[in-house]
Amino acid sequence: MAKLIIICGPSGVGKKTIYHDIIKQPKYNCVYSVSMTTRKKRNDEQDGKDYFFVNKTQFMKAIKQGQLLEYTKYIDNFYGTPKKFIHEKIKKGLNIVLEIEINGLKQILANNFLRKENLLTIFIEPTTFTDLKKRLIKRHTEKLSIIEKRIQQAKWEMKAKNLFQYVITNKKVEVAQKELISIFNKELLKE
Ligand code: 5GP
Repeated sequence: MAKLIIICGPSGVGKKTIYHDIIKQPKYNCVYSVSMTTRKKRNDEQDGKDYFFVNKTQFMKAIKQGQLLEYTKYIDNFYGTPKKFIHEKIKKGLNIVLEIEINGLKQILANNFLRKENLLTIFIEPTTFTDLKKRLIKRHTEKLSIIEKRIQQAKWEMKAKNLFQYVITNKKVEVAQKELISIFNKELLKE
């Protein structure tokens, strides 16, 4: 049975760098769920690949029509997971990777969308908040006022890490990747 793999972690912690290549390995049978967001597209992002970039009216319409599996307001923007894609891929027996924040995970846990054994939840944490702030500044994707808000959000998110089956500390990317690979080997290749 396919698993919904939920990867969470504070903004800037390096989630994508860690999982990007690993989830593409054919043996893990994974597909990436592209979220919908009202956030502005960054220079290095592609519509339909990184996110479906929509305006607030379109996002509200998606909520109203029940198109989203979960959604949240994060800082000043909305983010949500389109339901149709998830249903289609589950039917095909594929593992689906969702990179979402904590409120989204809580909704998925609360609505019993899948049984617990079909969920794989992983939290990626920074070594320190100072390190996290440095990473966010270096990324040059948000202005300082937004970075401060993301750090505050990170402090709240860190308190929820006990909700997860696995916690990876991103001290060194290569080490974090090895940890993720061993989780995937154990959880996805066991049959
Ligand atoms: P960013 O703006 O940095 O791309 O994302 C901000 C936060 O929103 C990150 O923690 C990211 O994981 C989360 N996020 C992205 N897509 C979704 C989604 O579909 N649902 C929820 N709940 N969070 C999302």
